[in-house]
Amino acid sequence: MACEQVQAQAPHVVFLAFPTQGHIIPAIQFSNTLASEGFIVTFMCAEQRIAKIRKSQGAELNPSIRLIGLPDNVPLGELRIDEGADSFLLSLRIADNMAPAFEQTVNGLIKDSKESHVPPPLCIISDFFVSWSQDIANKFQIPRYVFYTSPASHLTLVLYLPRLLEQGIVPVAPDARGIVIPGRPPLDGSEMPWDWQQSSPKEVNEFSFRNQLRLHESSGILINTFYELEGEAIDALRTEAINPNKVPIYPLGPILPSWFLKGEPINDEAFPDQTGNECMQWLDAQAPSSVLYVSFGSVAIPTIRQIQEIARGLDASQQAFLWILRLPPSATEATDLPEGFLSRTHSRGLIISTWAPQLLILSHPSTGGFMSHCGWNSILESICSGVPILALPQFAEQFLNSRLVAEQLRVGLKLQRGTDDVAESDEIEIAVRELIQGEEGRAMKKRARALKEEAARVVAEGGSSHTTLNAFVQAATTTHA
Ligand code: UDP
Repeated sequence: MACEQVQAQAPHVVFLAFPTQGHIIPAIQFSNTLASEGFIVTFMCAEQRIAKIRKSQGAELNPSIRLIGLPDNVPLGELRIDEGADSFLLSLRIADNMAPAFEQTVNGLIKDSKESHVPPPLCIISDFFVSWSQDIANKFQIPRYVFYTSPASHLTLVLYLPRLLEQGIVPVAPDARGIVIPGRPPLDGSEMPWDWQQSSPKEVNEFSFRNQLRLHESSGILINTFYELEGEAIDALRTEAINPNKVPIYPLGPILPSWFLKGEPINDEAFPDQTGNECMQWLDAQAPSSVLYVSFGSVAIPTIRQIQEIARGLDASQQAFLWILRLPPSATEATDLPEGFLSRTHSRGLIISTWAPQLLILSHPSTGGFMSHCGWNSILESICSGVPILALPQFAEQFLNSRLVAEQLRVGLKLQRGTDDVAESDEIEIAVRELIQGEEGRAMKKRARALKEEAARVVAEGGSSHTTLNAFVQAATTTHA
């Protein structure tokens, strides 16, 4: 007969992250949360990524987090961080290559626990893109919880994937219309995830299906969202139609540092690097809520034609901007940006081409809007800073996210695309002005600020995400023997 046992020692979890920044950043943040709840966390990812975490975030890590780099058989130097879709395809390969070393390490942790003060892992928490970890969890008879870094509204589609494949709706044809998913308005093909499109690389289609179809086998799904933001989608995730296996759903976001959520004053030590200093000093000199921050995250790089249209739009808008500009490998700033752009906008624009301190930029009082690719972390970070969004989605689930931002949450405007699927400069000029100065922009800002306050409440004692965290801790620490 099954009986419940509660561990006497500090509980130990194994965390496995997918090797791109948008997945690693919340995974590390959530590991910090678990560590402050008394867990020992063995955090694993590809070894080059772990080296980067040690260098950039080592000091902020809770000492109960142990980092382990997994060999991924990709020669050093080949992992070109932040270089667009190529690096995403490479990340898929790396994610799969980590499997043998992960299995060996988990095996070692279980064996060594007999002679060590660290007990065997109670569970594996692993990214939704490393579903092979389910086999390893099964083999060692420990539960696997999925770490989900996209919104609940995306997960409703993903859990419904078996039906969509059966019905032949996915892979999605370019002209597909009126796709019905229980509990949500019909979608057009273009709004479906990029990785499900017939036009996306086959490798990406297969990788997504293989990983997403296995979510139904997990012991629970931890989502970086909160009930007050996505209540309808979270309710839908608990219905029979979407989730026939009744996999427990744990919305425990926003997973962000507490100084950021509480809006605490910025500490100089938080940005010791040169870029951080440059951005902050420049923002300090701008008027309150006057600056448009432009960034497309850690993977996407817009086409050179799109970059030129953004430059023309910013030029014509006369607004101040801070642009994290990563050019496609073939382009150069000097020859590919419109003639005279840099000199004309010199007094009101700052262009950065390296990694920027996004949380600090968004929480700076001069930042008044965010032109974003709508990566889920960027949306949460913008909302939690009370900054409205100008949505220019690029790939993954970003088209879906932009609809959530513009139509449901109404904290942003979606840029319309013209010929060649490009948002043109006239459209950008008008939208930038509206966002920073217009009536609609002000209303969106007000709504974003209300959500920011809500976000701080949900993670505090008694809030919905805090209660969910307690429920997860209870589930993870109660083993069945
Ligand atoms: N980010 C950053 N500086 C940069 C670019 C990105 O700090 O120059 C962070 C950003 O704050 C976010 C993450 O990287 O936490 C990007 O995640 P998101 O989901 O927005 O997009 P992705 O990179 O996965 O497409």
